[in-house]
Amino acid sequence: RIPVVTLDGPGGVGKGTLGRLLAQDMGWHLLDSGAIYRALALAAERAGIQRDDEAGLVRLALDLPLSFRGDGEQTRVLLDHELVDEAIRTPQISALTSQIAAIPEVRTALLQRQRDFIQDPGLVADGRDMGTVVFPKATLKVFLTASAEERGKRRLNQLMEQGISANLASVVAEIAERDARDQQRSVAPLRPAADAHILDTSAQTVVETYRVLQAWVQTALRE
Ligand code: C5P
Repeated sequence: RIPVVTLDGPGGVGKGTLGRLLAQDMGWHLLDSGAIYRALALAAERAGIQRDDEAGLVRLALDLPLSFRGDGEQTRVLLDHELVDEAIRTPQISALTSQIAAIPEVRTALLQRQRDFIQDPGLVADGRDMGTVVFPKATLKVFLTASAEERGKRRLNQLMEQGISANLASVVAEIAERDARDQQRSVAPLRPAADAHILDTSAQTVVETYRVLQAWVQTALRE
């Protein structure tokens, strides 16, 4: 059986960073499921498909010309061969993404695309419903938490690294609004799987958190 480690949690909690580290160390594939939802939102905006046009969104989701290119440190997201890493991470697209992600039919349309990432020798999957819906039989399920303030700071740093300017208050507000929507939606609401390990990253450095994660992975692989 191909091992799968799921990392779920709210925005800015460190899933991306930890997932990248783990995938690199293990030599496994990495699924950034948020990037799929984000690319769908960007494609919808560009095509002028409204957020209440569910049939149009589902069609777009099924045909989305999306690919990922790994180049060491970073995975690059390509939409119709165009690099869209920055375009999919603006506050506007973030907000639109969580609105579109609340539509049950859209989530169903993206299921198989995500499951296709299970490939030898293993997979690290980061998102909101990796352990609860997409990979219910995962080898190890981890749910990451951190305070909204701390997550806002991390997201602000990320945006600044990408040359996107923003202020802390607006980033914290945007994350809090998105979390609330992700938690309250009717399908695949953001919550830990019953068998998930909970990892609070508020007070820990990336290195400390990563050590805990690594130990859990090693234990799970032995079981
Ligand atoms: O993780 P990221 O911030 O890129 O996710 C963007 C948005 O995509 C989330 O706020 C959420 O609404 C949606 N999403 C989701 N399910 C996933 C991953 C992301 O609904 N597995």
